Amino acid sequence: EAKVVKLKNSIKNIPDFPKPGILFRDVSSLCQDKDAFALSIDMLYEAFKDEKIDMVVAAEARGFVFGAPLAQRLHAGFAMARKPGKLPRSTLEESYDLEYGTSTLQITEDALQSGQRVLIVDDLLATGGTAEAMIRLCKHFDVEIVCTAFVIELFDLGGAVKIKNDYNIETFSLVEFP
Ligand code: IMP
Repeated sequence: EAKVVKLKNSIKNIPDFPKPGILFRDVSSLCQDKDAFALSIDMLYEAFKDEKIDMVVAAEARGFVFGAPLAQRLHAGFAMARKPGKLPRSTLEESYDLEYGTSTLQITEDALQSGQRVLIVDDLLATGGTAEAMIRLCKHFDVEIVCTAFVIELFDLGGAVKIKNDYNIETFSLVEFP
């Protein structure tokens, strides 16, 4: 589809970043293209406008770039999942595995309210570790996780399958790469 091609063409591919053998998909080049950036938010909005989303939850930092404008379009609230030590109030936290070591995301303990319909957003789905940490953060609350949504999905890394198998939650992405 033309819209997807437009988004794909705006994403620069950086070989050997952050280490040899990795082909990095750079969403910052998509954001720098005003038409592609607007299109990405429009397409996410179209996908979820009828889902009665109450809250968007997104991960620091690139998840905020898409999550916040989408939340505003959906007239939903926006909750930030942040790296440790950034949030000033009482937090919940979940850790997840990286290729080397682990990482942690925190959310304020009053971020979500019982019964809310929640959309989880990030820029890119790779192994799914980041998204799963956000799912586990949301599961501390009595909420309905409607979907996990991404601008880019690297499908060979199996994140969508893992999220479906482990949590029975659907994923949605605008652009797919192997
Ligand atoms: P995952 O936790 O393995 O799914 O990795 C997803 C997270 O890593 C996202 O928050 C992305 O920002 C980041 N990430 C992983 N690979 C890439 C890439 O090729 N381009 C941009 N970000 C990436």
